[in-house]
Amino acid sequence: LVRARDVRKSYGEHEVLKGINLEVHTGEVVVILGPSGSGKSTFLRCINHLEDMNQGSIIVGDHQVGYELRKGVLHKLSARAIARQRQEIGMVFQQFNLYPHMTVLQNIIEAPIGVHKQSRREAVSYARELLQTVGLSEKADAYPRHLSGGQQQRVAIARALAIRPKLMLFDEPTSALDPELVGEVLSTMRSLADRGLTMIVVTHEIGFAREAADRVVFMDQGVVVEQGSPHEVLVNPRHPRTRAFLSRFL
Ligand code: ATP
Ligand code: MG
Repeated sequence: LVRARDVRKSYGEHEVLKGINLEVHTGEVVVILGPSGSGKSTFLRCINHLEDMNQGSIIVGDHQVGYELRKGVLHKLSARAIARQRQEIGMVFQQFNLYPHMTVLQNIIEAPIGVHKQSRREAVSYARELLQTVGLSEKADAYPRHLSGGQQQRVAIARALAIRPKLMLFDEPTSALDPELVGEVLSTMRSLADRGLTMIVVTHEIGFAREAADRVVFMDQGVVVEQGSPHEVLVNPRHPRTRAFLSRFL
């Protein structure tokens, strides 16, 4: 479903991504680990075209991110077409970014109605289904400020799912939460993984990586240092940099 080839990205002189190669198959859950500043967020942002890359390519589904094939020739997409491409990908950030003046339900149906031109009825009915999925059926009419951080993040997940994305990106979804609220968000993510959603998750939650990931990728200084099954990477890491990183969590 995702194929990143030699993705390079610099900010000025600073090369943040130094040739990332990564494939993610449909239904796979890939967890990306790595120290702060290793380029994890930048890479996720490239997949979603929130960031332009300097070199390389990323294919999501049947198209290359930011490009379109017309008569056998690749054309760069307009901002508008990029926004349309982005609609196939759901993204959840560390900060939940819910609209404060809208209820939970309104937050979730906004994109399906506004962007996807779904009927209100259809959008509401799917939103209620999603609220059930994330365990918040009773909060449909609440405003974000009346919810805990963990509940807000679960609403943000429901909102991202509302566009029926074929790929979900999570960038440290639990790192802004109080410790006692982390579990409920991780278990929501677990249930999505169990349903076969394709997910790329950047997290420092090693337990989640061990239990939910099909594959763990360790990134450092803009490259993929090693990847493999959770057992291979977390229990028997081959690379000294992976070992050094993991030793901090023991
Ligand atoms: P963290 O675990 O702290 O979130 P990360 O692995 O997600 O780290 P990135 O956010 O991708 O790392 O950042 C990688 C590097 O790129 C960092 O050195 C950061 O300072 C730099 N960087 C990120 N965004 C920008 C930007 N918009 N302009 C300049 N430099 C940036
Ligand atoms: Mg980051």
